[in-house]
Amino acid sequence: MLKKLFFNWKMNPVSLQETRNLFSQVILAANNQPTVDLVVFPPYVYLSELSQQLQTTRLANLSIGAQDIASQAFGAYTSQISGPMLKDFGCQYVLIGHSETREAYKLSNQQINQKLLQSLESGLIPILCVGHQTDKTITEINYPELAEQVTVALQNLPTEFKTEFYLAYEPVWAIGTGKTATNQIIEEVSQFLKQELAKLSLANQVGILYGGSVDDVSIQELVKLRQVDGFLIGGASLKPEKFNKIIEIVTTQT
Ligand code: PEP
Repeated sequence: MLKKLFFNWKMNPVSLQETRNLFSQVILAANNQPTVDLVVFPPYVYLSELSQQLQTTRLANLSIGAQDIASQAFGAYTSQISGPMLKDFGCQYVLIGHSETREAYKLSNQQINQKLLQSLESGLIPILCVGHQTDKTITEINYPELAEQVTVALQNLPTEFKTEFYLAYEPVWAIGTGKTATNQIIEEVSQFLKQELAKLSLANQVGILYGGSVDDVSIQELVKLRQVDGFLIGGASLKPEKFNKIIEIVTTQT
């Protein structure tokens, strides 16, 4: 099965040269393993450069995306980057409502919904990130919070909407901590998310991803998951030796 791996580089690397070098390693990986589908989310300032680097490869299994999108298409919104701009810069995907972005900008689910509608209007494939913000323990699943994140973010979608679309389950306690959710929790939550999507007639259209400390070690267990369509990876996506191992495991064991 063709698995999708989404590389969230967050606010890294800190120089253009390092970014070029790291992206070259991703290009190499995509070239060597055509059965994996890779998407890289670099900081905004590197999008143009990576888009040009990507064009020279003609790789069909590698794309770039943005880490956020403005709620409006243009206008007096200092510091914001809009969907049409991202599209023009070669982005195909966009992360929406990543927990770090939700926290930094204190985003409401209604604002996430606006961003999502903008992504669809701009022809970008959204990866809507959801996860328990308030959970105190790693075994408790806050279903009402998840349900609200999904239903509010997905309201007022265009009726003719047919694009590819992903929902990434990322428990906040698992992001960047080295702790991953158990396969049992991920399966349970994926099932719940699919039920919520079914209520909106989106169950067959939306892929489910898991994110939270996926690395070359945790992937050995996570790869056994049957309900997820891919992984959103932060820290390990900055280290070629780690992401190459993840790609190897995902492509040989699914
Ligand atoms: C993320 O940034 O979405 C993420 C899951 O990070 P990490 O893999 O480092 O936990």
